[in-house]
Amino acid sequence: MQYVSTRGHAATPSFSEILLGGLAPDGGLYLPAQYPQVRGAELDQWRKLSYADLAFEVLRKFATDIPEADLKALAHKTYTADVYRNTRAGEHAAEITPLRTLEEQGGKKLVLQSLSNGPTLAFKDMAMQLLGNLFEYALAKQGAELNIVGATSGDTGSAAEYAMRGKKGIRVFMLSPHKKMSAFQTAQMFSLQDPNIFNLAIEGVFDDCQDIVKAISNDLEYKAAKKIGTVNSINWARVVAQVVYYFRGYLAATTSNEQKVSFTVPSGNFGNICAGHIARMMGLPIDKLVVATNENDVLDEFFRTGIYRVRKSAETYHTSSPSMDISKASNFERFVYDLLGRDSARVKDLFHKVETAGGFDLSGQAGCDGNEFASVIQYGFASGRSTHADRLETIRFAEKTYGITVDTHTADGIKVAREHLTPGVTMIVLETALPAKFNETIREALGRDADRPAGFENIEALPQRFEVMPADAARVKAYVAQHTGL
Ligand SMILES: *Cc1c(COP(=O)(O)O)cnc(C)c1O
Repeated sequence: MQYVSTRGHAATPSFSEILLGGLAPDGGLYLPAQYPQVRGAELDQWRKLSYADLAFEVLRKFATDIPEADLKALAHKTYTADVYRNTRAGEHAAEITPLRTLEEQGGKKLVLQSLSNGPTLAFKDMAMQLLGNLFEYALAKQGAELNIVGATSGDTGSAAEYAMRGKKGIRVFMLSPHKKMSAFQTAQMFSLQDPNIFNLAIEGVFDDCQDIVKAISNDLEYKAAKKIGTVNSINWARVVAQVVYYFRGYLAATTSNEQKVSFTVPSGNFGNICAGHIARMMGLPIDKLVVATNENDVLDEFFRTGIYRVRKSAETYHTSSPSMDISKASNFERFVYDLLGRDSARVKDLFHKVETAGGFDLSGQAGCDGNEFASVIQYGFASGRSTHADRLETIRFAEKTYGITVDTHTADGIKVAREHLTPGVTMIVLETALPAKFNETIREALGRDADRPAGFENIEALPQRFEVMPADAARVKAYVAQHTGL
């Protein structure tokens, strides 16, 4: 399997060649040259597999340059009941992503797929845990080392640290805004005592952290000398790992391949639902892929109108579903590439226009950039939006009607999913975090604290390890140099 850049760069690297990298050299994103197809008898066989074996079957279609025995061992090391142990009562950890029926009425069925039972209680563990093992494997083979520098406002940083902790050949330097994360998120990251994990609390806001990471990434000489890498959501291996749970959700919710299901996905950078799009392109019988956004509705706007208009900082709201607070969706280019019939020259033009003019318009109206909005429906996409008031109401509704507490992001998903129920098609809403992570809003909605999984009871009381630092790229560079010895 070879990979192509959405912007048409001539090279066609293999899976291993893009594993440790991010963007293609031309600024595009990588996609497989063609989507492997899974239908009929093969899909039926997959129905019986454990999660780890299913992950192996999906991975081997994309990572054709990794020996199959190695890939299988990596999948089995990653997807264990012990790693994904933070289940609710009634869920079986061995299922990795257990399903639960929320409501069933008049042929309409709503099901929750738990993706948040991993070490950091958010769906990012599903991919990041695999990435940690793949990175360690690839680095050991090359006799190489990697220093990951990242910025986080919460979920991504903790998922990366828990995936990379104790891994040979890898160090993580994670920048976060000093005193701006929730107490729970801070404790999750800062209580790690592993010597290869470095928490840098930057005196500034999240954007300052991100600017420092960009400055380091743009200093090519430094980057090469210090062996700097990233783990952001455009990483192709992360997307592939996410494809697996769409197959799993479909197979667990159906008994025959004649049946269709839909998915509703709480979305920010479009990484999660992009994996759903890829599963659908591989032949998985998905009816609708419903994008759920919060008040930061750049994606909902596109799927309603065909106009992609990125937001300025002043128009990007801090909401109670903070992991969906985005101004532009970094994985969206992958879908647009398919929507435009893989015309990389047009993709390049459109995303250049995003930089220079703040967006593009595919609505088909006079003077716009194209009419492909009319084809969006063929790809199954639909969308909806949810607000703080909707979240509170949905959290209360879920407690009363379903008997479970859901987090704020999942509440956005449930709210939008219920607007898209169709008789005869099971709707699966993806649970992207557990409520303990966003306790402030649970208290506001329910007047009590969210339950915490075993082992997290006193996490705020654990000793914390972090370094406070001014928002100064030079200081961060010096710190990294000192602690890598490079
Ligand atoms: C990252 C995240 C999202 C958004 O996922 P994308 O892949 O960026 O669309 C939604 N919910 C939670 C809890 C997250 O951590």
